[in-house]
Amino acid sequence: MLNLVLFGPPGAGKGTQSHKLIEKYGLIHLSTGDLLRGEISQGTALGLEAKKLMDEGMLVPDAVVIGMISNKLDANRDAEGFIFDGFPRTVAQAEALDDLLKSKGEAISAMIALEVDDEELEHRLLLRGRDSGRTDDANPEVIRKRIKEYNDKTDPVANFYKHQNKFTSVIGIGSKDSIFDTISSVTEAL
Ligand code: ADP
Repeated sequence: MLNLVLFGPPGAGKGTQSHKLIEKYGLIHLSTGDLLRGEISQGTALGLEAKKLMDEGMLVPDAVVIGMISNKLDANRDAEGFIFDGFPRTVAQAEALDDLLKSKGEAISAMIALEVDDEELEHRLLLRGRDSGRTDDANPEVIRKRIKEYNDKTDPVANFYKHQNKFTSVIGIGSKDSIFDTISSVTEAL
């Protein structure tokens, strides 16, 4: 199986590049942000609870997102592999993911980190807020809170994969295709 973690701050382009990787390899896309927005649009109790935190730019509790990922792994036993997008976002989530995959005789193949500076991120997210209507993208204060949560809690996840020699960083500025070419050169070498 090819199991990729696509890593990077909010607005780095994880969703865009995930879709290109899915086309190329036929992987299952597991985006915790999309899964949470699905719960919100269905009006579930989990969605209501998550929405409050998401609208403040805070992370949702580990147990919630780990549970969602676990269900999706169980529901897709015959997959060629997975792209994890927006997960793991804390070291506890990374450890839980390793355990979940190990119990199925699988492992993460690589983490690919998209590098984009804070100023460009803020600019991209505000533009996306205008187009997508995502409430957490429309407010500069919430955007800055998300970038802070990323720097405090998510950035350390890179070290977790560096220690396993699975980390590669890719510059996330340039055309979508040229960034994808660089990502492909990483996945082709796996
Ligand atoms: P982005 O990375 O562009 O901010 P996402 O769609 O990945 O967007 O996430 C949106 C929000 O959903 C996050 O700000 C956070 O509140 C919540 N979220 C998504 N994934 C996770 C996760 N793995 N752990 C905790 N919270 C998460």
